[in-house]
Amino acid sequence: MPVSLAVVAGARPNFMKVAPLLNALSASDVLEPFLIHTGQHFDHNMSGQFFRDLGLPDPDFHLGAGGGTHAQQTAEIIRRIEPVFEERRPRGVIVVGDVNSTVAAALVAAKMGIAVIHAEAGLRSFDRTMPEEINRMVTDSISDVLLVTEESGRENLLREGHAPGRIHMVGNLMIDSLRCHLPKARASSALADLGVAAEKFGLITLHRPANVDDERQLAEIVGALRIISQTVPLLWPVHPRTRARLANIAVPDTIRILDPLGYVEFLALQAASFVVLTDSGGVQEETTVLGVPCLTLRENTERPATIACGTNRLAGTGKASILQAWRDMLAEPKRGGMPPLWDGEARFRCRAVLEKYFSIC
Ligand code: UDP
Repeated sequence: MPVSLAVVAGARPNFMKVAPLLNALSASDVLEPFLIHTGQHFDHNMSGQFFRDLGLPDPDFHLGAGGGTHAQQTAEIIRRIEPVFEERRPRGVIVVGDVNSTVAAALVAAKMGIAVIHAEAGLRSFDRTMPEEINRMVTDSISDVLLVTEESGRENLLREGHAPGRIHMVGNLMIDSLRCHLPKARASSALADLGVAAEKFGLITLHRPANVDDERQLAEIVGALRIISQTVPLLWPVHPRTRARLANIAVPDTIRILDPLGYVEFLALQAASFVVLTDSGGVQEETTVLGVPCLTLRENTERPATIACGTNRLAGTGKASILQAWRDMLAEPKRGGMPPLWDGEARFRCRAVLEKYFSIC
C-alpha cells in the first residue's frame, strides 16, 4: 500500500519549496502525497499566482486560516488541520520553512503520532525576537526527519542534541524551483513590461516585523535606500505587511513602489539586478545562486552559507551601516560561489530519504 504523506504549505515562501517536492514525490511508486494549503497567505499576489507560476496542483484541502495575530493564526491552523489528519490518516506530514503553518501542522501531527518531516531544518539566527526563529526551534524539536539545506543546519541540530541518523543534508528545494524557472524568467517580458530592460536597477524586499512594524525603523531604512537610489534606481515590490506603514513615509521618485510580484516576474528582476536589498531569507539564497550582490538589512542571518560562499553581506538596519555596506559592495564586489548541493536536485534526495525512512520505520 502506498505511504500517504500530507504536504503543508501556507505562505509565499512555502510554495517554491513544496512545488518541486510534490513533483518528485508524485513520481514515486511507494509515496502518495497530497497538498494542504492552510490559507495563511490568501491574496492572489501572495498565493494564487504562485500556484500558476510554479505549476502547483489545486490543493486537496484549503483551510482558509488567514489573518489574525500570530497566536490566532497558529491556533486556527491547528484547529482546522486536525480533522484533515483524522480523515486522511497520513503516515507522514511534511512541513517546510519557518512560518506559522509549519509549526502548527508539526504540533498537530506529532501529537497524533504521525511522523513529522521538516524541510529546511536546523537554520538558526540565534535571535529569539524573530517569530520565525521560535517556529524553527519548536518544529525541529518535534520532527522525526530533518532535511537540511546547508552545513550550519546540520551543526546546529547536532549541537541541540538531535540524533545524527535523523539529519539528512539534501540541499535546497527553493533552488530546485529557481533552476527550473530561470530560463522562462530570463525569456519573459518582465523587464520590458516594467520599462527597465535597458537600465541598471536595484531591487528591494522588506517584510520582517523588526524592520517594517515600527515606522521610525522603516524610515531609517528608507533614508539609506533614498541615497542608494540616487546612484541606482530601485524597484520595490511591497509586501502587504509593509504597505500600511509606508503611508506616512516620504519615498522619493527614484524608488518605484510596486505590488508584490509573481514568482517568474520577480525572478527575472532579481537575475538582472545590480543589487538586491532585502530582509527575506529566501532572497538571500536566490541571489547567492544568481551571483547577484545582496545586502541583507538585518543584524543576523540564519543562512550563513550565503555569506560564507555567496554574494550576501549583512548590512544591519541603521542608515549608516547600510550605506557602509553599499560602499563596501561597490569597492569590493564579492564574486560568490555555490553552497554544496544547491544544484536543483534536492527534491530527488528528499524523495530518496523518505522512501528509505518509510520502508524501514
Ligand atoms: N518573491 C516573489 N515576489 C515578490 C517578492 C518575493 O515571488 O514580490 C519570492 C522570492 O523570489 C522568494 C520568496 O518570494 O522565492 C521569498 O519569500 P519571502 O521573502 O516572503 O519569505 P522569506 O524567504 O523571508 O521567508
